[in-house]
Amino acid sequence: MPELAELAGAELANIVPRDRHNISRQDISPSALKVLYRLESAGFASFLVGGSVRDLLLGKSPKDFDIATDASPDELKRLFRNSRIIGRRFKIVHIRFGREVIEVTTFRAHHEVSNEIGDHIPRRQIKGLDSAHSSDGLILRDNVYGSIDQDALRRDFTVNALYYTTNGFKVLDFSSGMEDLAAKQIRMIGDPATRYREDPVRMLRAIRFAAKLDFSIEASTAAPIEELGELLLSISPARLFDETLKLFSTGYSVKTFALLQESGLGQYVIAPTLEALPLCPKPAAKLVHLALENTDNRIAADKSVTPYFLFAALLWPVLRLRQEQAQLDPSQMRSSLLSMANAAIAEQLDFTAIPKRISYASREIWELQWKLEHRNRRNVRSTINHPRFRAAYDFLLLREAAGEDLNASGQWWTDFQFSDTNQQEEFLGNLPTQRRRRRKRGGQRKSQSGINSRNRGSRA
Ligand code: ATP
Ligand code: MG
Repeated sequence: MPELAELAGAELANIVPRDRHNISRQDISPSALKVLYRLESAGFASFLVGGSVRDLLLGKSPKDFDIATDASPDELKRLFRNSRIIGRRFKIVHIRFGREVIEVTTFRAHHEVSNEIGDHIPRRQIKGLDSAHSSDGLILRDNVYGSIDQDALRRDFTVNALYYTTNGFKVLDFSSGMEDLAAKQIRMIGDPATRYREDPVRMLRAIRFAAKLDFSIEASTAAPIEELGELLLSISPARLFDETLKLFSTGYSVKTFALLQESGLGQYVIAPTLEALPLCPKPAAKLVHLALENTDNRIAADKSVTPYFLFAALLWPVLRLRQEQAQLDPSQMRSSLLSMANAAIAEQLDFTAIPKRISYASREIWELQWKLEHRNRRNVRSTINHPRFRAAYDFLLLREAAGEDLNASGQWWTDFQFSDTNQQEEFLGNLPTQRRRRRKRGGQRKSQSGINSRNRGSRA
């Protein structure tokens, strides 16, 4: 087992001894402890790092445990049979214990940004290089191994760069992490503008952590965001989708939403929603707020949140606004729903990817709204057996809570679900056998798109 003093770079840390911090092994997942111990006994240095150390120091329970080590990915692979090397951007090793995955990364070094290699090579054409920057400073590949102090300084925020070792139970702080934790602030390591240029997603991360931890964003860390926000347009829609989901899964999504609006960053991830909110029918705007509150409550109660519900809610104002602008009469609402729903989703796709299975399910929630409102003897059973019924019913309740008058449909479905078979038959008997068709005479008005969709490169 190497001593800290033997680990290159460790001498640069401010070391917080066991009696000066509150981290206890009892709060660490047994799987993570196993990995730490096994690495130590094989002669490697290993540390808990990132969000887990930060959250433990704050007395919160971490959502996952990441480990940093001086063992290489191949050495890790040999040491842990239950491991797998993954990662396109970085090589990361996942060690699986049942349903839990411990993420282990080898200490990495930071790169100089004015790097000759990257200056002449267009993005996405770099093969076989281990480290490269594009001409605008964006990190493309990042697999240069380094010492622990270098590993610390390439992390984003000071509170995310604290290392905990079971070898002496110390916390190592290479920046001002402990101080910033105490001051409850998110502070970028190094020059904020440079670090945002390297990876613009760090701007969204600043907001996510500020909301989640109820921290402020330190002034010099916040300052460049307004000007550099548009760099997010260079980030792949797939990565922005992941990040957007994380933004709304912190358990503090109401606050995240407000920060996205305040900082101006919202226009790079949820622009269609933000543009529709002031123009759409009031209950649709209210629904977004209620859905976020609902999401936060669910996370507080340790329940899952489904991405398709989130997107159904976020894009509801967009859909509603489109419907309103198309001036449809009620009989046209249903036939045009599919194309309107697709259009609303397409607007979001200009900003973030949405995997098909998710956008499909969001659309199903919207489509089921019609059936939930327009019940007849035939469609009730198929509606209630639909795999998306539960989500659609929750959505219906939110719409009513947001002030839509849906003829007490929510109550009807609540009563129906909690009735026995005989009572249900009675409910069904009171319904019309068929949908009543009301057709207005006159031509269908052309749909007008009201929202300017923001063009993104080739998908304009
Ligand atoms: P969470 O509780 O949301 O998981 P986290 O801090 O663990 O928060 P992760 O996204 O899991 O965040 O990343 C783990 C760690 O990796 C971070 O704490 C940070 O040190 C580092 N890191 C992650 N993303 C970046 C980035 N874009 N730039 C620099 N460092 C990063
Ligand atoms: Mg994490």
